[in-house]
Amino acid sequence: MLRFIFMINIYQDNMETKIKKTEKKWREELSEEQFQVLRKKGTERPFSGEYWNNKKKGTYVCAGCGNPLFDSETKFKSGTGWPSFYKPINDENVETEEDKSLRMKRTEVLCSKCKGHLGHVFNDGPKPTGLRYCINSISLDFKD
Ligand code: FE
Repeated sequence: MLRFIFMINIYQDNMETKIKKTEKKWREELSEEQFQVLRKKGTERPFSGEYWNNKKKGTYVCAGCGNPLFDSETKFKSGTGWPSFYKPINDENVETEEDKSLRMKRTEVLCSKCKGHLGHVFNDGPKPTGLRYCINSISLDFKD
């Protein structure tokens, strides 16, 4: 009996923390540009987005689901034209996956809540992590 209740709890937990929507629903909710990046793993043109040069203090959240992703404290000037961070807000909200498209081996960065594509992470970032989370502005909303 206890084990059964435990399993129900896990199930409910997943229902609350993960977001699953049909492609049609995402198309309705997102702009065309947001849909192409978040749901189709596209990349915005560098220096075209809203946040690459944003220096305000605050939190960057997922444009698809509002999940907090990056803190402005970890943002740094990368010169790439995409907002860049040396670490995510925590280990739970952001996840990574191997990406072998474009004949390159890269590590994709995703929102763990809605699985929206955010960008890629590289090993040429600054201290203290040495990581560079290269994120599309259009995948983010900013809360100050
Ligand atoms: Fe999300």
